[in-house]
Amino acid sequence: MHIILLGAPGAGKGTIAKMLVEKYGIVQISTGDILRQAVKEGTEVGKKAAEYMNTGKLVPDSIIMDIIEERIAKPDCAKGFIFDGFPRTIPQAEELAKLFAKKNMAIDAIINLEVPEDVVLRRLTSRRTCSNPGCQAIYNIYTMPPKKDGICDKCGSKLVQRDDETEEAIRVRLETYYEKTQPLIDYYQHNNAYFAVPSLDAQETFDAIVQRLHV
Ligand code: AMP
Repeated sequence: MHIILLGAPGAGKGTIAKMLVEKYGIVQISTGDILRQAVKEGTEVGKKAAEYMNTGKLVPDSIIMDIIEERIAKPDCAKGFIFDGFPRTIPQAEELAKLFAKKNMAIDAIINLEVPEDVVLRRLTSRRTCSNPGCQAIYNIYTMPPKKDGICDKCGSKLVQRDDETEEAIRVRLETYYEKTQPLIDYYQHNNAYFAVPSLDAQETFDAIVQRLHV
């Protein structure tokens, strides 16, 4: 199964992706997570990506496509995957279509998570992420707090606020979303695999998606 999750920053893509991963035994491919890991490891890709990421801008399409091509060729992707945060631009979507055609693969679902902007803003500023790269569990200090303040329930590591979750970076990320990523909704609108779901409550959103996928 191959799924694309669309939605503004803070729409809940990461949370929903993790729920779908558990249900269907497929892998989550988050270009944001892959890039953050590369930055932490100080790789060439990480060095190039860091300046874009810290200011809330998009990393160039060519870097992203190299990451995707390499990632989907790994054996753990054989059963399927969920793209979380990719594609982010029309050129990325066009390149993805070419890549899938080359590999004889199809997109089974393109899911747009819909959330009002005030909800997105509140979510982004209240988000805390597990600092353990192998875990990266997501919390919300209001709606999904950890049992112990600042500590991950799952692995006991420290919870942190991401560098790109300052108010200024969030403003730029949202502007970038409206300018570059929202046009993807029109691009995919008439694709049979496309559907939209409201994304206010994670469990309700997940249930609606599962019902729609019929599997
Ligand atoms: P995310 O965790 O998906 O919000 O991604 C964090 C940051 O990584 C974004 O603000 C971008 O700078 C960069 N990024 C992640 N995915 C992409 C993508 N598909 N295209 C371009 N930049 C990306």
